[in-house]
Amino acid sequence: MIKREPVHFLVCLLFFEFAVISCFQNQPNPLLLLISFDGFRWDYLSRGHLPNFEYLKTAGSYANYVKNTFSTVTFPNHWSIVTGLYQESHGILNNHIFDPELNKTFHTNKESMNTLWYDPFNIAEPIWTLNEKKGNNRLSAAEWLGSNIIFNKTSVTSVDYNTSRTYNDIIDQFIKFFTDAKRPINFGAVYFDEPDATGHKYGPDSKELLEKLNELDSNLGYLIDKLKSNKLFDSLNIIITSDHGMQSVQENNNICLEKHVDLNLFDVYGGVVSKNLFLKNYSDMTNVYQKLKNISNLDVYNKSEFPEKYHYKKNNRFGDILIVAKLGYIIYEKCTDLSASTLKGAHGYYNNESSMFPIFLAKGPAIRKNYRIENFDIVDIYPFMCAILDLEPGINNGSISNVESMLKKFSRRHLILYAFISLTPIATAILTAFFLFFINKRSNLPGQTTNAYDGYKILSTSETNSLANNDELADNAEL
Ligand SMILES: [Zn+2]
Repeated sequence: MIKREPVHFLVCLLFFEFAVISCFQNQPNPLLLLISFDGFRWDYLSRGHLPNFEYLKTAGSYANYVKNTFSTVTFPNHWSIVTGLYQESHGILNNHIFDPELNKTFHTNKESMNTLWYDPFNIAEPIWTLNEKKGNNRLSAAEWLGSNIIFNKTSVTSVDYNTSRTYNDIIDQFIKFFTDAKRPINFGAVYFDEPDATGHKYGPDSKELLEKLNELDSNLGYLIDKLKSNKLFDSLNIIITSDHGMQSVQENNNICLEKHVDLNLFDVYGGVVSKNLFLKNYSDMTNVYQKLKNISNLDVYNKSEFPEKYHYKKNNRFGDILIVAKLGYIIYEKCTDLSASTLKGAHGYYNNESSMFPIFLAKGPAIRKNYRIENFDIVDIYPFMCAILDLEPGINNGSISNVESMLKKFSRRHLILYAFISLTPIATAILTAFFLFFINKRSNLPGQTTNAYDGYKILSTSETNSLANNDELADNAEL
């Protein structure tokens, strides 16, 4: 029986290896909740007393600021967060855009279900879809811009954005999603529309904004309490970020286009800070371009002039002309349009303006505690989420190297598992080689029959019994 021990040992080793790998693969799916507070400027965190935001900063990691994508408006940056793509790559160049090939107009208020708007190059895939495609009963739910669009024939649980619902109601709904007894989600994405609205209406330096921040801090406190009472706080990873900041604008800092140029010569698409202009007749290009160039506090570009560094122009939704207001100025087409001039805050400026930077905090089992990173790009959030969720990222413009320092290093348990899984095949190979060498040596001993396959021959029971009865060979076996 001694002679069978190597076989038994190898079989047991392989079984053990498969069991450990299988156990490792059946670990519960990682949990992640992504939250965006629209228009939450990076330095709002240093204003007033926001104990719950402060608590998450020390309990996890946070960035001094995030650099978002140009144009610094809502839909494009939310789409960059969940796809990791620059705007020229995912195609949402503004909240209001025109596609000359589709010959259609897109506006986030009347969101189109046509996937071509969100993925003109067939490369974008939001992380909620990627998460579900991984299998292993992974489920996503999202109340996010574009979460109702079907990607790769996969639709996730999409919660309609509804301004009549309180934030705490939405929090309750997502807690239920995560704790559902039959079909719990492992990824959730939640969009909140403040403090953007307050920042626009009263300005980023107003007391109303401070009051709104306190209110949002209370909402965050509610979320933390709910996570704790549902035993999710220690197992759930949370990311809190935003799409852009907010710049205060003065009452007289307005640019009225109709004072300077004939509005009938082109169509205008965009917000109050940057606009893509599509000429009705390209022969008017020089005329329109020169007249716009004469306007103070306005930058004017044709496609070749706009810098590559904004990763914005390689898309046919970039107009014949792009206009961008100088910081603190806003643009409106007609002078009678007073609605724009009531704004006390605006965004959409170049993404290297610090007032446009959003926040970033992350806390959870995958996140380092009490750690501060200087900054990174908003497109880096996508590979960061993929790392937390153990997903292979799709094509994206982000870089995990910019954000991986926020990830907790492997726990001792994981290190042991990884070491075991990595080393066991090598150990198995060495033992197998040793075993085959041993058998080969045995079968070549005097008095043993051999054939052409002896080097790989497993001895039959009768042969091994025969060997076991041979004292000389038994001695050899101990060598
Ligand atoms: Zn926004």
